Amino acid sequence: MIKLLNHLKSFQTSNNSSFIYAVYIFLACVFTAELNVIHTRFLLGAELTYISFIMPTIAGILFGYLLARIQLLREQLKEVAYTDSLTGIYNRLHFNRLLDAEMDKIKRYGGELSIIFFDIDNFKQINDTYGHPTGDAVLKEIAEVIAGANRSTDVFARFGGEEFIIMAVSTNIHGAKEHAQRLRQKIEQHRFEIGCVTASFGVTECDVSSDDRLTLLQRVDKALYQAKAEGRNCVRWL
Ligand code: GH3
Ligand code: MG
Ligand code: MG
Repeated sequence: MIKLLNHLKSFQTSNNSSFIYAVYIFLACVFTAELNVIHTRFLLGAELTYISFIMPTIAGILFGYLLARIQLLREQLKEVAYTDSLTGIYNRLHFNRLLDAEMDKIKRYGGELSIIFFDIDNFKQINDTYGHPTGDAVLKEIAEVIAGANRSTDVFARFGGEEFIIMAVSTNIHGAKEHAQRLRQKIEQHRFEIGCVTASFGVTECDVSSDDRLTLLQRVDKALYQAKAEGRNCVRWL
């Protein structure tokens, strides 16, 4: 730098205007170099900030978002797997799972368990008279009426077509019969858009010493069959 200044001094003595230009160029060079350093520092600083703060933050946000999406999808899958799409109550598959679990529990620890099974009377006629969408609306309304009348511990599901099932936890046959009668009356007294709708009910209690799911469900189905055979809109038990 000193050498360069001396050189510039001698240059000044020989040519004044040339000296001024040289000083301008020199200052411009220093200024540009300084700017480069500042620029480099700034870039380095920016890169460091990018690496140490912004990158993990973005990764964290993305990771959190993905986890939330996966959780949501899991919930949606669960809902699809467990519920009946028309009525929104449990489906047969989930009911069976819950029944198995409850039967295992009472076999191990003791307790009572009853099943109430009901089927809408002459439902085919409703479909034939008013159309399938009206039939669907009746199914939905029945599910709402019963869900509103059930106890919080009852497990209520659509078993198929126009058949519904209730697992009455901690309930013996006497309690289940009374409950079934109440539900039957609820349906009979409810005013549907198409007027009056009735259902027939079968009731049975689980015998922990001999029942498995199949025998329990076969017996309650038989009780329902009796209710149909004996004129419908009634409760029968086995
Ligand atoms: P019963 O009193 O002996 O039970 O006579 P039912 O007419 O109710 O019984 P049936 O088994 O003869 O007819 C049941 C009808 O239910 C036939 C079927 O088309 C209808 N069904 C089944 N699932 C659905 C559904 O999801 N929506 C509608 N709208 N109808 C359904
Ligand atoms: Mg029916
Ligand atoms: Mg049926």
